[in-house]
Amino acid sequence: ALDVVALDMAYGDFKVLRGVSLKAEAGTITCVIGPSGSGKSTLLRCLNRLAEPVAGDIRLDGKSILRTRADLLRRRVGMVFQQFNLFPDHTAIGNVQLALRKVQGLPAAEAKRIAEERLAEVGLAGRMSHRPIDLSGGQQQRVAIARALALKPELMLFDEVTSALDPELVKGVLNLMAGLGKSGMTMVVVTHEMNFARRVADQVVFMDEGKVVEAGPPEAIFGNPQSLRLQRFLSEML
Ligand code: ATP
Ligand code: MG
Repeated sequence: ALDVVALDMAYGDFKVLRGVSLKAEAGTITCVIGPSGSGKSTLLRCLNRLAEPVAGDIRLDGKSILRTRADLLRRRVGMVFQQFNLFPDHTAIGNVQLALRKVQGLPAAEAKRIAEERLAEVGLAGRMSHRPIDLSGGQQQRVAIARALALKPELMLFDEVTSALDPELVKGVLNLMAGLGKSGMTMVVVTHEMNFARRVADQVVFMDEGKVVEAGPPEAIFGNPQSLRLQRFLSEML
């Protein structure tokens, strides 16, 4: 399980997270929603130590991750970004293989076998030798997801992974993520896709101005929002 406790994060004097707490049970999907600038990406970045909080704690299975080495942590926590961050000079399979070889130090043949499996799972069996430039946005994003999954993370973080995609490609990536959730992966998903959050989240967390304003099951968050801020946000989103 993931346990975020009273997390504070600041860029200089500017407080970006102010006492953020949340819990996510193993095998559940937590969707984080909220207006632009509310601190959603910063929260995710803290969860894999791309950003260091100034106070509070983050625990994975009861142990603080703030005292583990960041490079070791990133073997346990996978992250997928809006911009896919693939290596342009490597093929789809090359991108996945590279991660396996660099991060896990696997021999080439084993890295290749695992990369092929993961790419097939995300529906790219026929696209393994394509470079990113020869793939659609949705396919590139699926390579990025396969690359993260290849490392067998305990926790997967997704930051608006469909925001840069053409509308017709969004659904395929969301379906892939929904399937991952069903397979028991623990996921924290920052998203503007309210229908996705409503349909697949076990828990929805609404952030505004660096704070968790409301959290709960999707039925409560979407069906019975308590705060004026969430009511307003939803009326603008839906
Ligand atoms: P969006 O929905 O637009 O992606 P967000 O909720 O992800 O927004 P963050 O990216 O976490 O928001 O940013 C929260 C606040 O922190 C914003 O006001 C942003 O301008 C500020 N911020 C983010 N990164 C930095 C940085 N490197 N230096 C200074 N301020 C930053
Ligand atoms: Mg963001």
